[in-house]
Amino acid sequence: MRRWNGWGDESIHVALPEEGARLLRRSLGEGRPQTDCTFESLLHRIPACRIPPHPCIQTDAPTRLIHSHGQSLPDWVGLRAGSLERFPDGVAFPENSEQVEDLFQFCRAQHVIVIPHGGGTSVVGHLQIPAKDLPVLSLSMKRMNQMMALNATDQLATFGAGISGLQLEGTLQPKGFTLGHFPQSFEYSSLGGWVATRSCGQQSSYYGRIEDLYAGGELISPIGRLVLPNFPASAAGPDLRQLVLGSEGRMGVLTRVTVRLSRIPEKDDVYTFFFPTWQSGISAVRTIARAGISFSMMRLSNPAETRTLLSLAGNKGKVDWLERYLRWRGLPRDHACICLIGFTGTRRQVRTARCESLAVIRRNNGIALGKLLGKQWKKNRFRTPYLRNTLWNCGYAVDTFETAVNWDGVTATLTAIETAVGDSLAAWKENVHAFSHLSHVYPTGSSLYTTVVFRLADAAEEILARWRAIKAAACRTITAGGGTISHQHGVGTDHRGYLEKEKGSLGIGLLKQVYRHIDPEGLMNPEKLIE
Ligand SMILES: Cc1cc2nc3c(=O)[nH]c(=O)nc-3n(C[C@H](O)[C@H](O)[C@H](O)COP(=O)(O)OP(=O)(O)OC[C@H]3O[C@@H](n4cnc5c(N)ncnc54)[C@H](O)[C@@H]3O)c2cc1C
Repeated sequence: MRRWNGWGDESIHVALPEEGARLLRRSLGEGRPQTDCTFESLLHRIPACRIPPHPCIQTDAPTRLIHSHGQSLPDWVGLRAGSLERFPDGVAFPENSEQVEDLFQFCRAQHVIVIPHGGGTSVVGHLQIPAKDLPVLSLSMKRMNQMMALNATDQLATFGAGISGLQLEGTLQPKGFTLGHFPQSFEYSSLGGWVATRSCGQQSSYYGRIEDLYAGGELISPIGRLVLPNFPASAAGPDLRQLVLGSEGRMGVLTRVTVRLSRIPEKDDVYTFFFPTWQSGISAVRTIARAGISFSMMRLSNPAETRTLLSLAGNKGKVDWLERYLRWRGLPRDHACICLIGFTGTRRQVRTARCESLAVIRRNNGIALGKLLGKQWKKNRFRTPYLRNTLWNCGYAVDTFETAVNWDGVTATLTAIETAVGDSLAAWKENVHAFSHLSHVYPTGSSLYTTVVFRLADAAEEILARWRAIKAAACRTITAGGGTISHQHGVGTDHRGYLEKEKGSLGIGLLKQVYRHIDPEGLMNPEKLIE
């Protein structure tokens, strides 16, 4: 069963190894575990429902509580401390497009706000209940989770937009196909949510980001159906899919999504490399990305992240052996950078790509460690977020920030983000443990992904104040460094204030006109993306 106040399945617990606990104590001080509020006590906070009865809408308190939030840090604080204040008035579970249309008619007539709900995994406040004094309906897409068509010749498949990553691959892989979209939230996040947030999977360098995979489909808006045909390519004016991608529920609800598939590859391996310094690692991954070598993922951790990963790895004997080996090969412990590179395709493609990459890596003084650690990473890649539950129970909060910048700004922006977040809790005399990696590497630049860990405080308001200070420091530094406010998590409420700098006032004005046209009463997920 899904955990109601944290990440993932309730039965899965990931332990914090003693080495990792020691690192956090050294860096942040003893954790401050808090007493969690119970599910039952939160139910008492839920006010009476303001939506008139409708046969498709459930109004019981547990269902409303479960659909009141995503996975952002403020969402976590609200759930754990019991300070959550806003809840949807009801939740609908439509099973087809006609039911969605019927619900929209009802909501327009009754002035009810609609928030499309996919997997509920947003980390930037996409699902926050607006402050407006109108009733709110959460429209769960969970029951629209079937494959509707598969065309093996065209390599296209159409799904109900509520299908989760796990269900989608579970349907495609036995038929010899894969979408290849593996965000770390893959177990729960949905196809419609991926499109609505412009999500990016871990192996997007081979399979493509969601905007490459999204071929078309259907969006039901308050004023009608928008059907997006799937052409292999088209020059027929602006591509309307680009308006739907990243629309964050503002234009309506995606009901059907057609995606471009790949055959399951013959080989899908992840290799591990170490570099003596950050500069040598950057030089190697940039060269590989520019040389046209085929890789599915390339993830270069900075020295702080490399040390943190090794201390969280758990297997002390093996980690000690690895550190001795790295020392013997002349890699200084404090500067070494771990790098994972995935190669996907036919045996021949993988062999060629690996050989070409290896030559670049050797020229940059990197050393190859083979497939063992990569296998381990693949096995655990969806388990890492479970550590967030464990750390919270030990008295530490975790959040992540991400952006993408061109190569000439990569190192400077990453250093500036770590410095800014590192200093952001000085007023509280608290430290922030920050570490980063390049998560998606492109010929012209890279995404940067920073994880922060900080201590909890006794009051929910104080935890939130600390988080706001860290978040503001990260976002200000990202925009000052010329980075996008999001490479993969989207805008939601948390990044909304930074969007105009990126799009310009004319750009924001254009988006406002589109949303006003398609949603004249302003009922679709208000307060997200733009004011
Ligand atoms: C542990 C963890 C790891 C993550 N890793 C990644 C990652 O690797 N890459 C990445 O890109 N993101 C990642 N995320 C962020 C998140 O999973 C993505 O933003 C994801 O795309 C959200 O999908 P969802 O179905 O959960 O959408 P939700 O959270 O339910 O909704 C997000 C937004 O999309 C809208 N929406 C949802 N479904 C529809 C629909 N059918 N029609 C219209 N609008 C809709 C909602 O209204 C809302 O505005 C991670 C999150 C967590 C918690």
